[in-house]
Amino acid sequence: MAAKKRAKKDAKEDKKSKLEKKLLMKEEMIWDGLSKKDEKAVMSFCEGYKDFLTKGKGLREVAKLIVAAAEASGFKDLAKVRTAKPGTKVYLVNRGKGLAMAVLGKRPLTDGINVVASHIDAPRLDLKQKPLYEDGVTKLALLKTHYYGGVKKYQWASIPLSLHGSVVLANGKTVDIAIGEEPDEPVFVVPDLLPHLWRQTQAKRKAPDVMKGEDMNILVASRPLDDEKAKEKVKLAVLDHLNRKYGMVEEDFISAEIEAVPTGPARDVGIDSSMIGSYGQDDRVCAYTSLEAITGIKIPERTALALFVDKEEIGSDSNTGIKSRFFQNFVGDLLALSDPDYADSALRRALARSKCLSSDVNAGINPSFKEVHEPQNAALIGRGIVITKFTGSGGKYTANDASAEFVGEIRNMLNKAKVPWQYGALGKVDEGGGGTIAKHLAELDMDVIDAGTALISMHAPFEISSKVDVWSTYRAFEEFFKVK
Ligand code: MN
Ligand code: MN
Repeated sequence: MAAKKRAKKDAKEDKKSKLEKKLLMKEEMIWDGLSKKDEKAVMSFCEGYKDFLTKGKGLREVAKLIVAAAEASGFKDLAKVRTAKPGTKVYLVNRGKGLAMAVLGKRPLTDGINVVASHIDAPRLDLKQKPLYEDGVTKLALLKTHYYGGVKKYQWASIPLSLHGSVVLANGKTVDIAIGEEPDEPVFVVPDLLPHLWRQTQAKRKAPDVMKGEDMNILVASRPLDDEKAKEKVKLAVLDHLNRKYGMVEEDFISAEIEAVPTGPARDVGIDSSMIGSYGQDDRVCAYTSLEAITGIKIPERTALALFVDKEEIGSDSNTGIKSRFFQNFVGDLLALSDPDYADSALRRALARSKCLSSDVNAGINPSFKEVHEPQNAALIGRGIVITKFTGSGGKYTANDASAEFVGEIRNMLNKAKVPWQYGALGKVDEGGGGTIAKHLAELDMDVIDAGTALISMHAPFEISSKVDVWSTYRAFEEFFKVK
């Protein structure tokens, strides 16, 4: 079958004029002519990816999964590493919400590092710090939320949600919470309004306000506690449950980080199972693919580094976002392994000579909303990893804008290794826009380019990717880590 497909493709190619073959850019669907061997590789790689998405729903859970995978492939906690030689594998966790992993290369760090940087935070509903209340009329207990990142709030109502996070108790101990993923566990929901009665309220609102921020309350209980004297018996029943299960009291919510995310596993999408649907693919697709690429390395020429950051979805600030010094400190720690008294200039040189893929997702054209894209410069699912020279909006404002030289280097690397890739920018020039962590990495004087997987329905509770794109993203990172 594959041979037949290949022959058909060759015949199509033969029909082109010599000039067409020489001058025109090749743009093709990857599934078309994919060999049986590659198809098998694509499908089995994506099983691992789906498993990663299913197990890592909350931010801290994703960080833990990455640490576990790192340790399983011989990476050691930096605190336990004393000496460095080519092939030494280390990782460092940033406050449970991000981490860096590196495989030391044959060349000195001051020759530069190959960095693939992704983010592991994803849009969600965070519980407020004083979330719990009992409604006076219905006597239902609810949890107030504050959405995190760019969400279309109405998409998050009337779907099953699970709770994931950590609570720091009065005794200083941290307890982890995960409720709603196991089939025998309850789920939670933001109740929406029935269409029979929405005419004067929701039906008149603009889309961003169909569900307003203060409407995003999560239904958490309806049974009163059996206590004659108590006032808010349903609220008290919730606290009683939390106290028995986690040792929590109401004040503990203030020192908690609890996320409500869509419940359920990642699934195949389409009758051909060619796509994947799941929460959190932005940007866990690049996290997983870079993790798989770096754990497969033996001894690279240049040091290979995979960085997983938090807070991208809300502007990259804070000590776990890319604007933090964490990354630079980690590179400093790597230098210190061979020279504890390394000079500041050595760190600056290592960063300045580094090359970086800012690996984040891009928008694939949604066939029902083509008008927001300029199709010639937009990404399509099923056409390989997307390379983006600049992000930003309205006149390239706040864009990283990779140099033609660096774009050329990456493009030629992908072509040489036969990694399927495409060029893509976010949307029409005046349509809107968005940024990534690229510009913050560029501040360190390194070459940075955006490269990642195209998604349909980005930031929705169920985002869609193409399996061949996930695989080609992995292949691209694998090749990039080999760059000398
Ligand atoms: Mn992203
Ligand atoms: Mn995003």
